[in-house]
Amino acid sequence: MIYGVYKNARNAAWQCLIDYNVTELPVKPSRIARVAGIKVIKNSDVHELEPHESGSSTLEGNQWYIVYDDENTKQRCRFTIAHELGHIFLGHELKKGYHTRKFDITKPAVEQAADIFASRLLAPACVLWTLDVHTAAEIAALCDISNSAAQIRAERMIELYSRNRFLTSPLEKAVYKNFEGYIQKKKAE
Ligand SMILES: [Zn+2]
Repeated sequence: MIYGVYKNARNAAWQCLIDYNVTELPVKPSRIARVAGIKVIKNSDVHELEPHESGSSTLEGNQWYIVYDDENTKQRCRFTIAHELGHIFLGHELKKGYHTRKFDITKPAVEQAADIFASRLLAPACVLWTLDVHTAAEIAALCDISNSAAQIRAERMIELYSRNRFLTSPLEKAVYKNFEGYIQKKKAE
């Protein structure tokens, strides 16, 4: 993976958490979409997705639409909507047929970037770190994401814990500040 792609998507996820004033887990991607004026539509209402797609984003005039496969679990639906928000906020030029269901190393760079955006949005590293969260099961429960998405995040967290350079970016510090009340509440539990 190109580091630029990673850094871009990560920073965009932080910026999104700040801009939409997200203060607690689980993050609600459908609320972010609503505040951003993006219409989120169930595929069972419109039947627009191809069999291999879990979601899509389209711009009609000035209006963005996200269609997601609502036959998936709630956790996967949340990730799909976050992934689509990634495409929109990262300014990807969207082509039909790009939105495959599985995480796949051969995915185009934009798909990887949208996945990175979604996982950083739904499972912000600085919040997991300060709550001393490590396992995929803990991440899945806290962030309301699928076990497979949590597994990928847990593996990344091992790397981040060993590097131990949290809160060095002003963006990440701003995210952390917004979550402070939530963090204190969780630590007191
Ligand atoms: Zn996609």
